[in-house]
Amino acid sequence: MLSTMQDVPLLISRILEHGRTIHGRSTVTTWTGEAEPRRRDFAEIGDRAARLAGALGDLGVTEGRVLGTLMWNNAEHVEVYFAVPAMGAVLHTLNLRLPAEQLVWIVNHADDRVIVVNGTLIPLLAPLLPRLPKVEHIVVAGPGDRGPLAGATARVHEYEDLIAGRPTTYAWPQLDERSAAAMCYTSGTTGDPKGVLFSHRSVYLHSMQVNMASSMGLTDRDTTLAVVPQFHVNAWGLPHAAFMSGVNMLMPDRFLQPAPLAEMIERERPTHAAAVPAIWQGLLAEVTARPRDLTSLTNVSIGGSACPPALMAAYDKLGVRLCHAWGMTETSPLGTMAHPPAGLGAEEEWPYRLTQGRFPAGVEARLAGPDGDFLPWDGESAGELEVRGPWIAAAYYGGVGGEPLRPEDRFSPDGWLRTGDVGVISPDGYLTLTDRAKDVIKSGGEWISSVALENALMAHPEVAEAAVVAVPDDKWGERPLATVVLHEGATADYAALREFLAGSVPRWQLPERWAVVAAVPKTSVGKFDKKVIRGQYAAGELD
Ligand code: ADP
Repeated sequence: MLSTMQDVPLLISRILEHGRTIHGRSTVTTWTGEAEPRRRDFAEIGDRAARLAGALGDLGVTEGRVLGTLMWNNAEHVEVYFAVPAMGAVLHTLNLRLPAEQLVWIVNHADDRVIVVNGTLIPLLAPLLPRLPKVEHIVVAGPGDRGPLAGATARVHEYEDLIAGRPTTYAWPQLDERSAAAMCYTSGTTGDPKGVLFSHRSVYLHSMQVNMASSMGLTDRDTTLAVVPQFHVNAWGLPHAAFMSGVNMLMPDRFLQPAPLAEMIERERPTHAAAVPAIWQGLLAEVTARPRDLTSLTNVSIGGSACPPALMAAYDKLGVRLCHAWGMTETSPLGTMAHPPAGLGAEEEWPYRLTQGRFPAGVEARLAGPDGDFLPWDGESAGELEVRGPWIAAAYYGGVGGEPLRPEDRFSPDGWLRTGDVGVISPDGYLTLTDRAKDVIKSGGEWISSVALENALMAHPEVAEAAVVAVPDDKWGERPLATVVLHEGATADYAALREFLAGSVPRWQLPERWAVVAAVPKTSVGKFDKKVIRGQYAAGELD
């Protein structure tokens, strides 16, 4: 029997119109590096998004067409974020930290015909253009020298000129809620990058989850500092969620270094922020050296890679509570968040806060054992995490005219996403990841968690960062190599660090190979780049 409910599609245009009207006075503040940031309220953003949609229509951006953005987090990027999907086209956020080769491959694979670029990123885009023959229009937003675009065969437009004088309303089409709204490529640590296409429905449902108290739980009384880039899985869903709930947004634009971040927190007093651990490490060093008032920040979402316990403890001391979350591009990204169960004291809460967290109702999980059997949630049986749900990818984009790709190592025969993450789930549903399957150290038939060694090392007061990777070993197959970044003036040597580790790690897991490095290499989204570390070791650069 069918229900008697209205069958209204879940569309991004609805989120936009809701934010524009009901939360019209909430603001997007963009950091400019000048005395005053730029402020624009949701009503104005909505008007400008409608104007932009009109302009883009004239440039040939029609339903199903893909538009690329090469932009920082700022108000214009939010406008594009809503205008493009709402008009039925597909928003493709380009990761500006990818190597040129990958960017070229991705733009061509996605068939981006129009690219909106921030003026300050023109030096990045211009040299690639000869290899992007299908790009017809480039729309430039914000300050920056336009000079390098002079010889471009694509037509170059000024964002502000393009939208000036256009109608502030647009007849948003009634789309199929399953149609593609946005696309994001994973950073392709192995092989070509893979494109994930989010639907209107998946974005809508994901935004509702982000806004639940058991997730980020933000309201119009909050201001979120979205450090996580809009090209990193849609800034973890924040812009869409913010328009649903009227959450004010503080956008750092290109000012992502610790000092300006500290300044914007002190001056603008956000209540929430979201970023990967590397950002929080950098900010901690900054405010330790030059104290700033961070007291407005009560709720921080941290994820993208494991949050070291020492980092969480250090922020606790500053009165900033980090909440650990797990997700991936393929999961939109919200997969889990580590709010402890109710009614516990600080000490009992601590182990829960260190887990990756609990699954929301929209994410179903199971652990696959080595023989394909599914493991119990007993907190001990470790297996590969598989998930399914309405905001989880069922396939990768196959390119124009291509079939969706369902590689066997990523999708189970019954359609679950194989995450490539290994971990355990406790009887009360908390996920603890021990490692990425490809980073686990296989030593003499036993597994060593690189993350556990890193966390233990980063608890040493003289260690700023530590990354551990597997390296080949004649006797054991693989053994851990520990690379550490020491604080200035540190005196600890390898023997001392090894002894320190022995306090919390079984002796057979202690690394024999060590290297002190100036910095841990990071991926385009700020995670430890273990492929690079393994390469440096193989090339004899870490002896
Ligand atoms: P990429 O795969 O290109 O790094 P993603 O951002 O999609 O891009 O990465 C998802 C992966 O990041 C997850 O599969 C997991 O290995 C890791 N990850 C994300 N959040 C956490 C976390 N809180 N703890 C440990 N690992 C995490």
